[in-house]
Amino acid sequence: MTGSFGGQATVAMFVVPTPDPKKQAIFQHPENVPIQPFFKGSGGTDYVCGECGLTLLQRMNGAQVSNIVFQCPRCEKYNATRT
Ligand SMILES: [Zn+2]
Repeated sequence: MTGSFGGQATVAMFVVPTPDPKKQAIFQHPENVPIQPFFKGSGGTDYVCGECGLTLLQRMNGAQVSNIVFQCPRCEKYNATRT
């Protein structure tokens, strides 16, 4: 984690079972690029993998990421936000 400034928060996401792609959008990191967050926004919350702590979503506004599942590129667990 880098420095601190007003209101920045870090939220651990929830590890969930392999989701049904018909019911939920699943984001998976491309295999041939360096690991980096799926999204970088300008909000106040970083979302990190609930298993290994890797930052998956950087500086998000929480409402932007509901009902989406992200597969961690490091530990390959599926992560969802609390909705
Ligand atoms: Zn992980």
